Amino acid sequence: MTSHIMLTSHPRTRSGLYHAVKWGAPSARDRGPFVASLSDPAQRNVIGTHSGAYSLYRALAVAAGNLQSTHRPDLSNTTPAAEIGPHPQWCDPKKIVSFDPWGHRVAEEFGHLLAAGIDIRPTIAVTKAHINMPELAAAIAAGRLKPDGDILAANGDVKVTKAAIDPVWYLPGIAERFGIGERELRRTLFEQTAGMFPELITRPDLKVFLPPIGGMTLYMFGDVEKLGQPETKVACRVHDECNGSDVFGSDICTCRPYLAHGIEICVEMAQQGGVGLVVYNRKEGRALGEVTKFLVYNARKRQKGGDRAETYFARTECVAGVQDMRFQELMPDVFHWLGISRIHRWASMSDMKRNALVSAGIDIVEQVAIPDELIPADARVEMDAKMAAGYFSPTGAPQADELTRAKGRGLNE
Ligand SMILES: [Zn+2]
Repeated sequence: MTSHIMLTSHPRTRSGLYHAVKWGAPSARDRGPFVASLSDPAQRNVIGTHSGAYSLYRALAVAAGNLQSTHRPDLSNTTPAAEIGPHPQWCDPKKIVSFDPWGHRVAEEFGHLLAAGIDIRPTIAVTKAHINMPELAAAIAAGRLKPDGDILAANGDVKVTKAAIDPVWYLPGIAERFGIGERELRRTLFEQTAGMFPELITRPDLKVFLPPIGGMTLYMFGDVEKLGQPETKVACRVHDECNGSDVFGSDICTCRPYLAHGIEICVEMAQQGGVGLVVYNRKEGRALGEVTKFLVYNARKRQKGGDRAETYFARTECVAGVQDMRFQELMPDVFHWLGISRIHRWASMSDMKRNALVSAGIDIVEQVAIPDELIPADARVEMDAKMAAGYFSPTGAPQADELTRAKGRGLNE
């Protein structure tokens, strides 16, 4: 390790050595690569570093002496296992602002620069897998799903293409989505991260930021290369992470039942020749985080009168200051990336997600509600509160007296 500290907060060269970024340019080469190299600061043209929140673990690995700070990934054989795009939306600077649409094609688009020694890294990876969930076996047993021996095997195995996407923020575009100025956005990001990224202030020439947050994972069913063709029908669930329910089956909310139901609809669509898509966003607890979420659970169950729908959102607001920080404004980007302009079957009750898609010009043909029998009893509070707040329900919102009745379990039950 060298004894002097490399500051990235001021340009090291005035010669324009680094590649200027033209976000939304007609091709990847015109747009330019994103270089976040820590060992070659003169080449850097972005703020921050790769791998989102995991960049801190990388720092620990370097600090502990387990990783060479100059290590560069060997990208042999890592290119996408399925072709995604390019789609015309990739070259519209306003359609995708929260990740790099060319992020999986780094080796193809910038091979000449990689060969010249420039440190360019993929921000998207595409692979293939089989998944299996007990709910799918239950759907087969109930006769809702029929194995076809290809997409869905008799043992419940489902073939998927999956993609992991790290966030890459184009700051002028992010600011525009939220209706604020770029300077205001940069200053607030700087202040609210306790000055973690000085270039937000000192380098207004750098427009791209790799934020240290979680990204998203896509699970796709059927032939993903049909995406972007107008005749391809698409079924979709946009799911925001809920570790307690998604992984551990905690029954206070409807997350895992909704996820499983969404996958069921996606499998069906793939079997009919369309494509199914599950977008899994790392936005735990409405992007408030799990500590806040568990505090809210306690507050809900200990409040006078017990856990009931009429106070569901208020309890969250008491602890977090807001009801929700998921900001669906950025969510439609992934649909533009996949070339999707119409969703034929949409498995969600969220009016916020629906409105975000519609205002991004994406049609929703049919909204599919979760069947009542798939909702756990303790989650009734959440369902009623959401329906009363304007979430989609085929049976209509619950009446006022319904909302005042305590329906959730007590804390020690
Ligand atoms: Zn949940």
